Order: sequence, then C-alpha cells, then structure tokens
Amino acid sequence: MLKKPKKVREVYFDHAATTYLKPEVLKSMEPYFINEYGNPSSLYKKGRIASNAINNSRKKIAELFGGLPENIIFTGSGTESDNLAIFGTCFKYPDKKHIITTKIEHHAVLYVIEELEKQGWEVTYLDVDKNGLVDVKELVKNIKKETVLISVMHANNEMGVIEPIEEIGRKILKYRKENNTEFPYFHTDACQSAGYLKLDVEKMHVDLMTINGAKIYGPKGTGMLYVRRGVKIKPQILGGAQEKKLRAGTENVAGIVGMTKAFELVQENKEKESDRLRNLSKYLWEEVQKQIPQVKLNGPEIGSDKRLPNNVNITFESVEGEAMLLYLDEYGIMCSTGSACTSANLEPSHVLRAMGLSYEYAHGSLRFSLGLKNTKADVDYMMEWLPDIIAQLREMSSANFSVGKHVKYK
Ligand SMILES: *Cc1c(COP(=O)(O)O)cnc(C)c1O
Repeated sequence: MLKKPKKVREVYFDHAATTYLKPEVLKSMEPYFINEYGNPSSLYKKGRIASNAINNSRKKIAELFGGLPENIIFTGSGTESDNLAIFGTCFKYPDKKHIITTKIEHHAVLYVIEELEKQGWEVTYLDVDKNGLVDVKELVKNIKKETVLISVMHANNEMGVIEPIEEIGRKILKYRKENNTEFPYFHTDACQSAGYLKLDVEKMHVDLMTINGAKIYGPKGTGMLYVRRGVKIKPQILGGAQEKKLRAGTENVAGIVGMTKAFELVQENKEKESDRLRNLSKYLWEEVQKQIPQVKLNGPEIGSDKRLPNNVNITFESVEGEAMLLYLDEYGIMCSTGSACTSANLEPSHVLRAMGLSYEYAHGSLRFSLGLKNTKADVDYMMEWLPDIIAQLREMSSANFSVGKHVKYK
C-alpha cells in the first residue's frame, strides 16, 4: 500500500488550465461591482465613469501590444474571441472557401474550423514535427487564391511549443504583396503565451489575435480579440452597438478592468518570472528522470526558446494518465493529462497524436504547468510520492493487463 502524507500540501501545477486571481487585480475590479456600476452606454456621469474605465483599458492593452485602442474588441472568453475571429472572417467573405490551420490547435479553434468544413469550406490541417512545430514552408505552399484565413496558435496549451509566428506573419505578408491581395488574414491564439512572451502585433504581422484573462492571473470569463485596422469581420453576437458593433451586450466592466490589470502585471514581470519557472521546470524534469524509470519528455527540450518556460509534459510508460491524476489528487497535487480514457470518446490528446505519439504514449502523459506561487518545495513534495505512485500503478497494470496495452474503461 502507498504511504499517505501526514499533512497534505496543496500543490497546483495546472496554470495552463487557469490561474488564481492576483489580489491587485481583484482590487482594480472592486469599484466596478458596487459603486461604479453604471452601464457604459449611459450618458450620465455614472455611465461615463464605466465607459472611461473600458476606454482606458483599451488604451493600456493596445500599448502593450503595439496596436491602437480601436483595434481591441473585448469579449467573454478566449473561446469567444477565437469564434469571432474565425467565423467572423469566413462569414464576412463567404466566397473565399479555404482555411489553413494546424492539427494542434485548441478546440476553440479546431471545432470552429471543423464546423466550417461541414458547411463547405475546404481546410488544410498542417502536420507538426515531433516537437509540435509547424513547417513554415509547408504552410506557404498551401496558400492559394481562395485562402481566406490562416490560424496558427502562438504557444500550445498541452506541451508548450512556441510556433514561429513572426516568420509565418512575414511570409503571409510577402504572399499578399506579391499577389496584390489583402488575403489570407492571419489569426493567432495567444492565450497561453500572453503571460510569458512579448506580444507585438507589428512584429508578429497578425491581423487577429486572441487572449483571455483566466490564464494570466486575471478573471475568468474575459477575453479580447485584436483586430488590425482595415480588417473586416462579421459580428457573431448581435444586439447593442457595443465594441464597434462587433460584440453586442453590456460590457463586463470589472472583468475588462481586471483582465487589463492582469495583462499589465504579467508583461511587466515576464522575463524574471520566465527565468525562474524555466529553472523550476528543469529541476522537476531532472528529478523525474533521476527517480522514475521509463519516462519521456514530450515537446521541445526544457529551457529551449521553443518551449513555454512553465510547461513540462511527460509520458510515464505503461501508466494511465487519468489514474496518475487521481492518485496525485489524493496527495493534493493537481495537474492534467492528455489521456481521455474515461471520457466518452476514449481518444487521447489530438496534440500528442499529431506529434506522432502512439496511443499508449499519449495515454501515459501528464502536463505540469507551473506558476507564480510554485517553488522547489512543491516539486520536492511531489517527488516524495510520485515514484511510488508510478511504481504501484505499473505493478497493477502488469498484474492485470499486458503492459502497454490500452485498456478501455466502460
Ligand atoms: C484556455 C485556452 C482557450 C480558451 O479560453 P477560455 O477563456 O477558457 O474560453 C483558447 N485557446 C487556448 C490556447 C487556451 O489555452
């Protein structure tokens, strides 16, 4: 039997799923719940205070991106921003019927594009290499006259690979110049990178960019879409004239203020915090290698500039991701898995599969995504238990089933 800790320590290693809210962020939001509750569309002072708060947020966010305030459309989530960018472009130009994307996008992009495919759009899903990187040449080769949109994520949520967005942006720009066209538009989902990388829309040459609040120590249910000047998209939510008529509905004033504060704070401190997390990630991966046999890192090398500094994705051979997850939970340790064994479709992560991992390998993966409050002590605490958990699960699986065989839970 596995030993249990005398005192369970709460260790949160799932910052790619969501983060806590920074106290400074909460403080910035507070006035807009109770005292400054005016509707930003109202003309009297209380309304103007609210609309000023939104406009100041727009200015600050735009400055951090190198864009203009009018480029920023506030939405209700990263998912909504992705939907607006993709449906918005494709429905605006319904005669242009080709989209390029990658096989490793977040479902907020992939499912939208799959829906368009059902409705008659042709889609090129780009392969990635074993580290998860897209081939820029391959992307360029696939652009054609009918291509209306290219959507490539900035950094992947599962194994933290950072795609060469600037290079892709330059190539798309070159294509447009040579062919004297404003298409294809270029969208990137930057939800995972906003906390760690500089997002400069000019350097990246993006037309549309998604970020959200929930991954950067801001409020959940907040997001924004950057829309470059001159780029026309069709609104997906109709009603009032908010957000230049691109996103109807009374604005989430506190949420907008909070997301802006969160974005300012993470961008201020990103280098120092990235260095710290890179070292902590290295430490975690080194300890795992030292103490647990038959492990494999998924994605680019830890510490490489192709990988987010806070992401460690490891396959533990012959173990089910969900079993590990549930065991770790009993010890207060939270992380996620690319396995979906107990979910309806049994398909493991599309991202790990696209990187060429077998079903068995994909099922044995755990993602540790580190964050602000994590320290070496968190890693040490986990390593007190993880080797025994893995050993026990391997023993169970070899006793009951042939090793490595995929087991279907029904
Ligand atoms: C979390 C995430 C989303 C979805 O954001 P929500 O605000 O939860 O809707 C989209 N794309 C990526 C890459 C993400 O990590």
